[in-house]
Amino acid sequence: MSGFLTGEALRAFVHALPKVELHVHLVGSASLPTVLELARRRPSAGVPTAPEALAEFFTFRDFPHFLRNYLAVTSLVRDTRDIHTLVTGLAADLAAQNARYAEVTVTPYNHLLDGMTGDDLLTGLATGRAAAKAEHGVELAWCFDIPGEKGVVAGRETVVFALRERPEGLVSFGLGGPEVGVGRAQFAPFFTRAREAGLHSVPHAGETTGPATVWSAVHDLGAERIGHGVGAYTAPALMEYLAAQGIPLEVCPTSNVRTGQFPSIAAHPIRRLLDHGVVVTLNTDDPPMFGATLDGEYLAVAETLGLTASEIARLAENAVHASFLEPASKAALVTEIKEILLQDTEHLA
Ligand SMILES: [Zn+2]
Repeated sequence: MSGFLTGEALRAFVHALPKVELHVHLVGSASLPTVLELARRRPSAGVPTAPEALAEFFTFRDFPHFLRNYLAVTSLVRDTRDIHTLVTGLAADLAAQNARYAEVTVTPYNHLLDGMTGDDLLTGLATGRAAAKAEHGVELAWCFDIPGEKGVVAGRETVVFALRERPEGLVSFGLGGPEVGVGRAQFAPFFTRAREAGLHSVPHAGETTGPATVWSAVHDLGAERIGHGVGAYTAPALMEYLAAQGIPLEVCPTSNVRTGQFPSIAAHPIRRLLDHGVVVTLNTDDPPMFGATLDGEYLAVAETLGLTASEIARLAENAVHASFLEPASKAALVTEIKEILLQDTEHLA
């Protein structure tokens, strides 16, 4: 039985765990120096070109404010080189967190709308993914998602692009953007097509709204995993359904606090979700924009909830099982997690 860790021992344990990141947006993963570099290349986009002003720009009043500024950063990304820079920057950051694998959300419709060609986007993703593996030892997979605020036209274009191009590493199909006023059900035909073609369904739901959106993601979009999903916490029947069906949630605690969904990690319903048996995974969403890291999410939750080492390891295992990795890769990561937990137990004994 593993005990409680604190301070440096907790930090070292969390870092040693091989981690999997299931909810991170490519544009939102841009480091602050990268955003500054892109902003200086294209000052007309309205993104600050000085560090202090950028920090202010990334202090969000609410979710709509966050989304506006996120889309301004998206508009800075214009060509293959920019995409490659984003992908390799993310891989370096993931490696620094001892993350081995990530499913990264890319929003092709927004990039094409900003004038990038599909070929430029795909080339940047492919070269970036190869460099991520070769230079950082990080395996990347893609989720192409619909920007919900752009409506059904974006849904249609996104599924057509995804299925026509089907780049290596594309594993899933998503839906992001605002939930208020953007019903999930209208995107059902696109999810049906994507699922029939073998892509996994991973829509955002229950980030800024409640249980009804999560139910819709499950029933209308065939969600196999849910982006955020924390809005389920007020509905015991829904939490029990998610637990029984083994539909994991991609929980992003710091993101939820920074966009104003909950006042603090202590006030976050993660404990309630765990108590109802929901499969919780920890993720960063848009790490530099929120001042988040993957290790930091594990630490914050472990400290706030008072988790034991085995409970922390379970969260890392949840992410492995909830991923779309091949079974052999999952087994190798789980074995490594168990070994680290065992070392820790022996150390404490
Ligand atoms: Zn997200």
